[in-house]
Amino acid sequence: MRPPAPDLSATVLVAGASGLVGSAVVRRLRAEGFTSVVGIRSTDVDLADPGATLAYLASVRPDVVVDAAARVGGIAANAARPVEFLDDNLRIQTNLFAAAHAAGVDRLLFLGSSCIYPKHAPQPIPESALLTGPLEETNNAYAIAKIAGVIAVQSYRRQYGRRWICAMPTNVYGPGDTFHPTRSHVLPALIQRFHEARRTGAEEVVVWGTGTPRREFIHVDDLAAACVHLLAHYDDPSPVNVGVGEDITIADLARLVADTVGYTGRIVWDTSRPDGTPRKLLDVSRLRATGWRPEITLAQGLRSTVRWYMEHAASLTGQGRRPVPG
Ligand code: GDP
Repeated sequence: MRPPAPDLSATVLVAGASGLVGSAVVRRLRAEGFTSVVGIRSTDVDLADPGATLAYLASVRPDVVVDAAARVGGIAANAARPVEFLDDNLRIQTNLFAAAHAAGVDRLLFLGSSCIYPKHAPQPIPESALLTGPLEETNNAYAIAKIAGVIAVQSYRRQYGRRWICAMPTNVYGPGDTFHPTRSHVLPALIQRFHEARRTGAEEVVVWGTGTPRREFIHVDDLAAACVHLLAHYDDPSPVNVGVGEDITIADLARLVADTVGYTGRIVWDTSRPDGTPRKLLDVSRLRATGWRPEITLAQGLRSTVRWYMEHAASLTGQGRRPVPG
């Protein structure tokens, strides 16, 4: 299962380098001593365009590709725009894989998501739960695109002997996230909302759903470290879950975010908003067997993310985006 470790002079192409995960993977690779890291953004090459993608990879000729390029969003964005979540993600990964194969790339890491697993999968969710039951409806278009990505990676392995792998991260957060009241995932949405309430002196903050769903959160720097570790230590057709092994209810998360931000008002639940899947805790035994463990606790990661958000809040206002962290 253990592949030869990538050489530090290998050219590593990271697709999605302006995103939360891609930017962290670029930082981590450079910190570990990789000297030729090429981070690509949608402005460098349109991965939805097959010809442009093929030409770009033929010119860069990477040794390793990390695919962190995707259209992502929270529960509301997924429910509102399923066509884009399905279509854009299918195009991006299909074009990138075909171009990587044509360029002779032998090592590729595809990043999926824990939402690929069935809605009522056993908890913690083992990798073997894939395709054993119906998906959660709010994000099934995104999930199907990511499942197609897993099957594509397995197919390139089987048909062409490529040593490509898939990592399935749990909910990711950290600096560089999208902090938007309606489009974001829960953790950055709550940071934004509690911070705004504190700033304006609001007495209540509305949080979606019942508060009972459970979610697991990994700091993006831990995820990036896991990705680089897996490139050196994992070579198997099965996806590998990347999580921390612990989850928390949305109600407890809301209180933790409120305390970290310093918001002391009321929390009100809007139960007309969907809860989504009841629980999503990954079984991380396969990852642990490779010798990797996370280092950042939720309390620590939340503190540093809130600090980062406060430093950048002014430049994020109205857009939900920010410059990529250095
Ligand atoms: P999911 O893990 O795919 O369901 O994605 P999210 O991060 O968007 O949502 C996780 C849970 O947090 C769901 O139960 C949401 O209903 C709940 N939640 C509570 N408040 C918010 C919010 O302001 N934004 C989002 N995105 N989710 C929220």
